[in-house]
Amino acid sequence: MHPYANQRIGLATMHAKERALAPAFRRVLGAEIVVPPIDTDTLGTFSGEVPRPDALVETALLKAEMVFEAMPDVDCAVASEGSYGPIERLPLVPSGVELLAFVDRKRGIRHVETMPTHRTTWRLQRFAKGDPDRLLALKGMGFPRFGVFVVCSSDMTKPIKNLATVDAVIDAMDREAERSEDGLAVLYSDMRAHMNPMRMMVLRAVGFQLAKRLQRLCPKCQAPGFGPIGARRGLPCEGCGEPTHWIDFEIDGCKACGHATSRPRKDGRRTASRLSCKTCR
Ligand SMILES: [Zn+2]
Ligand SMILES: [Zn+2]
Repeated sequence: MHPYANQRIGLATMHAKERALAPAFRRVLGAEIVVPPIDTDTLGTFSGEVPRPDALVETALLKAEMVFEAMPDVDCAVASEGSYGPIERLPLVPSGVELLAFVDRKRGIRHVETMPTHRTTWRLQRFAKGDPDRLLALKGMGFPRFGVFVVCSSDMTKPIKNLATVDAVIDAMDREAERSEDGLAVLYSDMRAHMNPMRMMVLRAVGFQLAKRLQRLCPKCQAPGFGPIGARRGLPCEGCGEPTHWIDFEIDGCKACGHATSRPRKDGRRTASRLSCKTCR
């Protein structure tokens, strides 16, 4: 039986993420996701900017710690962070990343799964009062199935949230445009998980990725989460046998006891192409 079977795993969320994550933990590990009453918004709310990935990891781990404070009898916690918006390297292409951090404080396991994604609906557009394109833009953003925020273009500190009807959004846009110095209102996607079915789908996928990782036990100490931790380069050249920069072995490891094993490449290659060799090229 898996060590997490029938165990409770705390999830730090205010946005109903248990809907996306509970099935993976139940089906793969037999574990139950429980949600403590904590205010994760104190760690920053979703605003559409793209923080660094290591900042996402830090925030997620802090959220996991909040679970332990709220539920002293629980040993494992999961927290999720997401980041969406246009990536600077690829202007105007909406992209994002979902990240799940898992902490088992009893066994000393910390594990982070990430999933980069283009399956997002993130949009940000500006409109003047009465602009005839407002309705089409709103429809294009999937409203009302997908939530939107409206904010004044010259003061973006107080976005209007939880707008439920098309009329409410249009009214808010005209009101914010009117009070803005440039006469424009900003309309952008609400990426909070419970307002965004696409994000729920990606969360569900990364949840299964994490549960499957935890499913495998360390052959030495039986801690959950044995799996890929890196690779060793140096696959020999097919011509001269010298090491190349190609991956030679994949390495699986245990975060609890440090045990590691190597295995050959998945594609079965035993030699690298001549083209990758400094000597033969
Ligand atoms: Zn060679
Ligand atoms: Zn181990």
